[in-house]
Amino acid sequence: MILTNLQIWDGVADQLDPEFDGVEVKAGKIQRLVKSATVTDSAARDMGGLTVIPGLIDAHVHMCLDPDIKDPFEQDKFTDAELIKKIKARAVQMLSCGITTARDLGGGRWLELAVRDTINQGELMATRLVCSGQPITSIQGHCHFWGGEAADLEEALSVMARQIEHGVDLIKIMATGGNLTPGSTPRNAQFDRQTIARIVSEAHSHNCLVAAHCHGTEGIANAASAGVTTIEHCSWVGADGWGQNYDPNAVLDMLANDVSVSPTINAGWKRYIGNRDFEARIMGNFEKLRAAGVRLIASTDAGIPGVYHHHLPLAIPVFAHFAGLTAPQVLRGATSECALAIGLGDQVGRIQAGYDADLVFYADDPLRDLGALATPVTVMARGVFSDPASIN
Ligand SMILES: [Zn+2]
Repeated sequence: MILTNLQIWDGVADQLDPEFDGVEVKAGKIQRLVKSATVTDSAARDMGGLTVIPGLIDAHVHMCLDPDIKDPFEQDKFTDAELIKKIKARAVQMLSCGITTARDLGGGRWLELAVRDTINQGELMATRLVCSGQPITSIQGHCHFWGGEAADLEEALSVMARQIEHGVDLIKIMATGGNLTPGSTPRNAQFDRQTIARIVSEAHSHNCLVAAHCHGTEGIANAASAGVTTIEHCSWVGADGWGQNYDPNAVLDMLANDVSVSPTINAGWKRYIGNRDFEARIMGNFEKLRAAGVRLIASTDAGIPGVYHHHLPLAIPVFAHFAGLTAPQVLRGATSECALAIGLGDQVGRIQAGYDADLVFYADDPLRDLGALATPVTVMARGVFSDPASIN
């Protein structure tokens, strides 16, 4: 299949491709970029000047959570069959909105892994998933209701072994407490540096990367020096409050260990725009992270109350605002750089020969206006067109 008459952003450059305006797709992969004028194939499909970018990637979702349910314990009322149906519907809707890959960072019953497999087997046209299963947490710690409680290193390794038996793609650890769990505190570290480091090395020996949930600065520092792959949230909570305790030494460890930050800025953060104290604090932290050269990737924590699974395209402009990113920077953070950070850097996130043909087409150029992301014209996943949807 050859698609012609396109404007191409490859997921990497600062501007549209100056040379090529067509894409040849074969067996689900991008075969090569072409010049429409040289295409003689009568089966070529004229895309009418649409802009195409690589499929978007959300680095942090929870497919099992219903954003309309506030009480985490109430989430458990569904049977496995009901929940699988819901997860499938979410994954289909995400794809229709241009999200071709999402990394699931926790659930209790491994049902998102079952849906992942259905999608990978080509039985369901939906967002590709990579999944962590049950996060490792402390006793009564953040999201303990998912079943991953561990009192010490030995128990943590046995929680990990259970996830690996279930076929997870990566390991998630709760390095600090969180907001979702009554009784757990975002500021407090749940594991020390040595424990996280052992978990990381054990995970790597099973070809699994490690994502660490970290609000508090102490947990951020522990996870960064232990060499996790991504730090989720990175809220810099310390003695002085939310966002008040940025730690430059932890950032040096991030750089030394190639750790990416996944700040889970969802579309709802719009409500903080204009709240000058909050904005100044958050934007100041991002300014320092950016200046240091830490990779920032797009993520939403979809599934938590009020955060819908298909809203990444609405979150990206808000992420750009708070993180001080230009359009190409934030779009790299949602495509090529995100892919790199989650271990799929040679497979997705770029429009380049050999990469999966995950493509999103827009009437307007998102490099000029990130608002264009809200209304894809059509979406292709692994070489197959899916029905688009506008996002609300
Ligand atoms: Zn989460």
